[in-house]
Amino acid sequence: MSEKVFGKNGLTIDQMFSERSQAKKAGHSHYFTGVLCKNGHLAPRRVHDCLCVECGKMYRRKYYVPNPKPPRLSEEEREKRRKLNTRKYWEKNKELIKKRSSEWRKNHKEQERQRNKRRYANDPENFIERAKTYYQENRERMLEKKREYRAKNKDKIREQNKRYYEKKKKENLQK
Ligand SMILES: [Zn+2]
Repeated sequence: MSEKVFGKNGLTIDQMFSERSQAKKAGHSHYFTGVLCKNGHLAPRRVHDCLCVECGKMYRRKYYVPNPKPPRLSEEEREKRRKLNTRKYWEKNKELIKKRSSEWRKNHKEQERQRNKRRYANDPENFIERAKTYYQENRERMLEKKREYRAKNKDKIREQNKRYYEKKKKENLQK
C-alpha cells in the first residue's frame, strides 16, 4: 500500500472516505473516489473544491508560478510520466480502487448517467470512439460475463423467452 499522505490530517488513501460529504463531516481535507478525474488522474480530491491533487499541481504550475524555470522535461514527456505513474499507482492499489470505484458508482448511478450524457453532448464522436475502444478492449470479458450469467440463470432466461414468445403470439393473433 502507498505510504503517501495528504493534507493537514496526513491521511493515507485507505483512510480516506469515498464520499465527499462523509469526509467533510469527519473534518478530512481529502477524499478518494477511485474514479479518474476529468484529466485522467487517479488521485485523492480536496474536500473544499473537489479538485484532484494532480490537477491542483497542474493548475499551480500554470497559474501561480510567475517566472517558471524552463522545464527539464517536455510536456509530452511529463504526460508520459504522469500516465506511467497513474498506472503504477493503479497496480499498487488495484483492489482498493476497484472497491471504491464500484461503491461510488452504486451510490451515483444517476450522476454517472448524467455525466455520460454530458460527455456525449460535448463531443459525440469522441464519446462513441471511447465506447468502441472500451468495448473492443473488454469484449472478451463482457462476453465471458454474459456466458456465466446465462449458465447460472438458464431457467430464468428460458422462462423470460417463453413469456416473450407467448406475448408475441398473442399480439399476432390479435392482428
Ligand atoms: Zn486530475
